[in-house]
Amino acid sequence: MIAPANTLTITQASCADDYDPNSMPVAKARAFIHTFLSPVSGMARVALRSALGRVLAEDVISPVNVPGHRNSAMDGWTMRFEDLGAGDTTLTEIGSSFAGQPFTGKIGKGECVRIFTGGVVPEGADTVVMQERATKIGKAITFPGGQKRGQNVREAGEDLHEGAVALARGRIVRPAELGLIASLGIGEVSVYRPLRVAFFSTGDELVQIGKPLAAGQIYDSNRYTLHGMLTRLGCEVIDMGVVRDDPAILEQAFKDAGDIADVVITSGGVSVGEADFVKQLMDKLGEVVFWKIAMKPGRPLAYGKIGRAHFFGLPGNPVSVMVTFYQFVRDALLTLQGVSPLPVQPLLKAICTSPIKKAPGRTEFQRGVLYLEDGVFKVRVTGEQGSGILKSMSDANCFIMLHDNVGNIDAGATVEVQVLEGVL
Ligand code: AMP
Ligand code: MG
Repeated sequence: MIAPANTLTITQASCADDYDPNSMPVAKARAFIHTFLSPVSGMARVALRSALGRVLAEDVISPVNVPGHRNSAMDGWTMRFEDLGAGDTTLTEIGSSFAGQPFTGKIGKGECVRIFTGGVVPEGADTVVMQERATKIGKAITFPGGQKRGQNVREAGEDLHEGAVALARGRIVRPAELGLIASLGIGEVSVYRPLRVAFFSTGDELVQIGKPLAAGQIYDSNRYTLHGMLTRLGCEVIDMGVVRDDPAILEQAFKDAGDIADVVITSGGVSVGEADFVKQLMDKLGEVVFWKIAMKPGRPLAYGKIGRAHFFGLPGNPVSVMVTFYQFVRDALLTLQGVSPLPVQPLLKAICTSPIKKAPGRTEFQRGVLYLEDGVFKVRVTGEQGSGILKSMSDANCFIMLHDNVGNIDAGATVEVQVLEGVL
């Protein structure tokens, strides 16, 4: 179940706020939606490996000091710093300290111990000189002057103190977190339960793949892009298929979706001609606001609640679905999953090699190919940019983000790009 959202209703809040629903800035719509989001309340204890990609529901507290012992950062010899002189000093090697096999004695005046990376620094010693700097003749080891007290020694608890928060609630568990948690000897963690997201496509023209197309019909591709984007975000997806533009069938689909999911996403049916229809249904089942976002592509967008479920009504055009998903739905789903802080969307500056026609007054998300040439990031558009041309998305590795206030872009101008893929 979703925790109770903001006590103000969506329609009340939208009236209280001063905005133009016919020209809603991207950032404002995003911020508005955000006020109604709070993380799901369910959590589960899972074995460490199964936590990959999930969100920590509780702080991970370190039960130990990391590192557990004072140890060497280098292969070399360890000694009392005070025994090293300003010039060459020769000390006597009295034993060895290997990682996992410490030297158990104590180092005294004029003595040193052979030590390897990760080896425990013996009692009495406080400094390590790397082996490349020492000269060995039998047990007589000579060190040059200029060493520093404490060099190459990692103190116990230097990375993490016992009882400290190793990872805070809200962190996404990536490979680094798996390793960090394992390094503390913890084999199980609490994670938020997956978000349940139901989605369906609307439109009489849509046909499921596997069936032949009649005149004027098209295959439903939005459910596939949505499936992909939602699955990658770690959501539990409930694909409800294609729903006809029929009031009774649509009403039932909305009801069913609202009953079983935390979030309901639809594509199509929010453009001017169709919005009234959805609005009437929502007045019955929940509440909704409709915006014409000052952006391209992806102008119409609906946000609301169906019972306790959050509702996102995305436009029908295949590229618009993806752009509005990345700009509005992605962060909302991460917040509902309990992610905190939200990951920063990588933005880079790049030289745009294609001229772009653009009207000021709206944010444009052109699909681009970012590449590196002579150490400089450059970007070009992926050809035709129609909102129905999915190939423009498929060829892209970034959005070229052209802000509200800018107009035409000349070739050679610097633009901001939102990178779609990163290091996995
Ligand atoms: P709509 O927002 O319903 O007016 O749809 C806008 C455009 O997107 C129309 O050309 C639709 O045929 C197309 N469209 C709507 N839904 C889908 C879908 N699920 N898959 C592919 N194209 C779609
Ligand atoms: Mg439609």
